[in-house]
Amino acid sequence: MRGRKYTVLIADRQTGVVRRLTVNLRAVLWGTAGVLALPILIGLGAKWSATSEIARLQATTSLLELENTSDRSATGALTNQIASLQAVMHDLGVRSQLDPGLAKAMKNLPAVVRSRAVGGGLPFATAGSLVSGNPRSPDDTFGVIRDLLEGLSSRLRNVQQNVEQREALAASTPSIWPTRGWLTARFGERADPFDGGSEFHEGIDISANKGTPVFATADGVVESAAYNTGGYGNLIVLRHGFGLETRYGHLSRFAVKAGDRVERGQVIGYVGETGRATGYHLHYEILANGELLNPLHLLTQTPPRP
Ligand SMILES: [Zn+2]
Repeated sequence: MRGRKYTVLIADRQTGVVRRLTVNLRAVLWGTAGVLALPILIGLGAKWSATSEIARLQATTSLLELENTSDRSATGALTNQIASLQAVMHDLGVRSQLDPGLAKAMKNLPAVVRSRAVGGGLPFATAGSLVSGNPRSPDDTFGVIRDLLEGLSSRLRNVQQNVEQREALAASTPSIWPTRGWLTARFGERADPFDGGSEFHEGIDISANKGTPVFATADGVVESAAYNTGGYGNLIVLRHGFGLETRYGHLSRFAVKAGDRVERGQVIGYVGETGRATGYHLHYEILANGELLNPLHLLTQTPPRP
């Protein structure tokens, strides 16, 4: 049955109208089996496969495109359903393409953070009803195809939810360099710059001229923007969701205040040397659930152009 197309003739006994429906049966069967065999939950901890699932769904619906040579209106409703499924799939296909740098940063997040993005309970409201669920009457000739479309639609809602969760995590992942400068101190054990003893450096230092803009490295909310007596000087703390937090120390001044919503790349302050600092630089930290991360593992994207 390779590539063979089947034509289904449907005769209406009352009106005498004959409808003809041509489907590539083999392709429909394979496509359906492929979709049903896919895992329902595309975990962020596992390999992200939304793109391939969307491609398969698209392939399946395009196989279902119906030919009707005698009466277009008979298949009109189904054609509309297929078109609306394809529109949603196209949208999801576009949205599931992530900047490779950002995808890499997300991969380097601790598993506990990524797992929060799976089954995080985003509302289904935005998914809506993709295909209207008409009750199937016994003599509904298109019932099988309609059932298939409804199955596709339900799988599509799963994919949509996963794409939305990944978008939320992507927006919350600190991925860009927080300022333009040069790296002068790494994360981890180092000699204390003041007394020469050993200390654990809890972030990275980026040296830059005084007043160089400092950027939010991910979308979030300003937890605090205030002078810190613990050595950070003028310090901004951002909360990004999923347990992620970033800190920006030694600022000369602030461009945001507590409670402000910020976007990745937005200027939040300016490089200075307030607090316990030797020379103008930004001290930058990333925390996940209160645990320090090495910021260099996540800084995969350049800051916005001046
Ligand atoms: Zn530092």
